[in-house]
Amino acid sequence: MGLIYLDNNATTKVDPNVLEAMLPYFKEEYANPSSIYDFAKRSNHAIKEARGVIKDFFNAENEKEIIFTSCGSESANTAIRGVLNMNKNKRHIITSKVEHPCVLNVYRALEKEGYKVDYIGVNSNGELDLAQLESAIDDDTALVSIMYANNETGVIFPIEKISQIIKSKNPETKFFVDAVQVTGKIPIDVQACGVDLMSISGHKFHAPKGIGALYVNSKALITPLIIGGHQERGKRAGTENVPYIVGMARAAELAMDNLKYEATEIRRLRDKLEANILKNVFNARINAGVVNRVPNTTNIGFEYIEGELILLHLSDLGICASSGSACTSGSLEPSHVLRAMNVPFTAIHGSIRFSLSKFTTENEIDYVCEKMPSIIEKLTNISPFQDELAALKRLKH
Ligand code: PLP
Repeated sequence: MGLIYLDNNATTKVDPNVLEAMLPYFKEEYANPSSIYDFAKRSNHAIKEARGVIKDFFNAENEKEIIFTSCGSESANTAIRGVLNMNKNKRHIITSKVEHPCVLNVYRALEKEGYKVDYIGVNSNGELDLAQLESAIDDDTALVSIMYANNETGVIFPIEKISQIIKSKNPETKFFVDAVQVTGKIPIDVQACGVDLMSISGHKFHAPKGIGALYVNSKALITPLIIGGHQERGKRAGTENVPYIVGMARAAELAMDNLKYEATEIRRLRDKLEANILKNVFNARINAGVVNRVPNTTNIGFEYIEGELILLHLSDLGICASSGSACTSGSLEPSHVLRAMNVPFTAIHGSIRFSLSKFTTENEIDYVCEKMPSIIEKLTNISPFQDELAALKRLKH
């Protein structure tokens, strides 16, 4: 077996069709799209077309609501800071405890700058506490920022319902959704969901790293994060990254065509992997239960063993998975997401995320299913928690 890449929530392989669409904009069509000669009109036109595709990807009303950025983190920073700069009289903001650091750390910085912040919790299935959210919103709430799906567990939050709660409590409160982990996995519809701002990132759906987008409803005003020229209607300065914009639009078209496959085949492979591991490994548990999740993700806790050791054994077999998000792996801090879910400390350190993509094959999943029980058995045998493991084994049988 060659490389088995099951870390698609960290990043994805660039689709060859995406690369092909991009190449002319490196080789021949390299003009600055703002220049006035005919040569530049072609790259300008390519951006216009791409904006139309991304508008459809979000199901936005108007192309003017799309801003191209460099990544999901820039989109989130632009959304949060941009909304607050337009509403300087309001000082209360809300987010969840399980956001990606590109939201959570901006909120922490804002707290230091004097904002009152409410961090909404989740239950042991990873579901958001909607009652806590509802009671937190007041007349001073400028912004609520809630992710669409969690990068570590794949749990999907009920965005439409959350929007209704926010707007019924305070119609002026803006709602930003980090949709980075749902793109290409479930359909997105900003109008049906009633969100004001939404971010995506190309490298999570088979476009390259270094390109993202932000949807901003025409009624939601923001200031730019990057100030300079008049690109992106003054909302994001910097010469447009034409090849990457074209690439992300092509990836969005392919993602829209692939949604059915994602919902059926990728879900089937993920479920097969989960069912096999649960059946053959006595100390395995799914972190998130069977709540609504994106079809490609599973987060499995192996009790009384160390996740980093599992990853190293998998890596020796050419299998790529992850413990926590890519940004936190490498540190032995347990994941803030699993902590918020109250995952028992016996499983939190041994939690592994597998995330599939359209390039994942059945043979690969079968190979991982075959290898996991012996890896876990080996690590279980050297665990210092032998009495606890024996008790757990008796309980399971
Ligand atoms: N939001 C979520 C939920 C993510 O998973 C990630 C990346 O892992 C990001 C935002 C950041 O995206 P980017 O790497 O494009 O900055």
